Amino acid sequence: MAKRTYVCRKCKRFTTDKECPICKSTALSASWKGLIVINDPNDSEIAKTLGITVPGKYALFVD
Ligand SMILES: [Zn+2]
Repeated sequence: MAKRTYVCRKCKRFTTDKECPICKSTALSASWKGLIVINDPNDSEIAKTLGITVPGKYALFVD
């Protein structure tokens, strides 16, 4: 059975848990648009724009 994917409203990180693995926030949303994968936050303009410092999968927009 597929797990539901949520996005953290604070840092936009994807998670299948009930809390964000990065900031431990429980403010998660199942409504999101756009998916980006950040491999090297220090070498990514998008990561800098979004304030991402940890490699991983992120959503561009979260409702
Ligand atoms: Zn978070």
